[in-house]
Amino acid sequence: MSDENKKDNNLDHNEENNKNKYEEICYICRRPESKAGKMIHIPGNICICQSCMQKTFDTMNNGNNPYMDMSALNPAMMGFMMQQDIPNRQKIKKKVEEPDKKAEEKEKVTEKAIDIKKLPAPHIIKASLDEFVIGQNHAKKVISVAVYNHYKRVAKLKDTEHPLMEDVDIEKSNMLMIGPTGSGKTYLVKTLARLLNVPLAITDATSLTEAGYIGDDVESVLSKLLAAADNDVEKAEQGIVFIDEIDKIAKKKSTNNRDVSGESVQQGLLKLLEGSDVEVPVGATSKNAMVPLTTINTKNILFICGGAFPDLDKIIKARLNKQSSIGFSADLKDKYDDDPNLLQKVAVDDLREFGMIPEFLGRLPVVYSLESLTKDMLTKILIEPKNAILKQYKKLLALDEVDLNFDQGALEAIAEKAMEKKTGARALRAIIEEFMLDIMYEIPKDDSIGRVTITRDYIEKKGAPMIEMRGSFKTPMLTQKG
Ligand code: ADP
Repeated sequence: MSDENKKDNNLDHNEENNKNKYEEICYICRRPESKAGKMIHIPGNICICQSCMQKTFDTMNNGNNPYMDMSALNPAMMGFMMQQDIPNRQKIKKKVEEPDKKAEEKEKVTEKAIDIKKLPAPHIIKASLDEFVIGQNHAKKVISVAVYNHYKRVAKLKDTEHPLMEDVDIEKSNMLMIGPTGSGKTYLVKTLARLLNVPLAITDATSLTEAGYIGDDVESVLSKLLAAADNDVEKAEQGIVFIDEIDKIAKKKSTNNRDVSGESVQQGLLKLLEGSDVEVPVGATSKNAMVPLTTINTKNILFICGGAFPDLDKIIKARLNKQSSIGFSADLKDKYDDDPNLLQKVAVDDLREFGMIPEFLGRLPVVYSLESLTKDMLTKILIEPKNAILKQYKKLLALDEVDLNFDQGALEAIAEKAMEKKTGARALRAIIEEFMLDIMYEIPKDDSIGRVTITRDYIEKKGAPMIEMRGSFKTPMLTQKG
């Protein structure tokens, strides 16, 4: 062996020794393996601890992807994922290399969303919503315009020297959204907040009571918003609050007791909706001596209230019938009996009759309704949105190199079953989970399966799904129990 080769060999040997001598250190948090736990190796000789990797994924997904739970994966599997999922790997690598840069960029996006010149126009907001929310065109249009105007107003308040804005005061456009359960009220707001990159708090009006009674004070909705904004008051002051089940705080019709969870809550919410400085407990749902308080100004917070308002259709129908039964143009009495979208004809008077107090309604100037979902819409919800539930299952099986398909009959059968349950799109997941259990259990058992096609017969428990082997011959294999 020549001298040079010997030298190289010695060097290699030393490197090997050094490797054994030193602990690996997480590239992000700089903790050694003995403290941070097992390291994940990614190409480029980079080691990352599992908790930093989880945080990276959480930031990438905003915590919305249930399939990115690192604690459920072992390091070996992580390595496998890294090799398989090349686009993902590139994203992670970027994230690892420039963690601070990304955080800065996120900050910038938040600022951009309320920059008057760069505010996305309503049609762009709607187009983005279209990617996720099926149907509900009127609601999407109204919400896009209202949100655009709202953030334009916020930007104006910040930029007091704007020449056009000096003498006209633009009012706040809080919204009231009426729609049957499972029609996408919450989903619409969630999607919107994600697109605009503003903090969002979702609360339930049923948990609110008048201060001093058991339940949450109305200020708790702002505590949640503050938490969603990582306790950054300035950020929270430009966020969105969605108060669901608002119909449950309607004035009680006949009570002798004090209405602490109905009318009083509406009264309590008035000052938040209007815009004022509110003392908010930090990290708690009611004020007491042990909880620190902070002041939040609500004038730039967009409040969206949503509710199913059961039986509101009867009130609307009664009003319409009364109107149309007078004079020569009198209509038939049952004209509105089968109108599926009676809710679209809602007027403030109807809501007042339902039990909402006029002061409360006055602070929600934008009122609109969502349609009840039809079979056709439900079928589309299964496959068309960007993160459609069937796309998620397809992806899961694709990781096992199995191609999952649903024929049109199957999609319609699922939608029909969902219609029967009368809980809107919410029923879809329950139905799919039920029959997908067997598929997800059986398919990975057999390596030779290449394609599974779900049919109407399988959904209706009359037959088996179509299985195609990798060699591409067809044979029914699974039958659904029951
Ligand atoms: P609610 O109107 O009762 O607030 P949600 O918004 O919570 O109903 O809807 C439940 C789920 O149904 C959502 O998470 C979403 O996945 C799905 N969904 C409902 N409506 C739609 C829609 N129009 N387009 C796409 N998905 C929808």
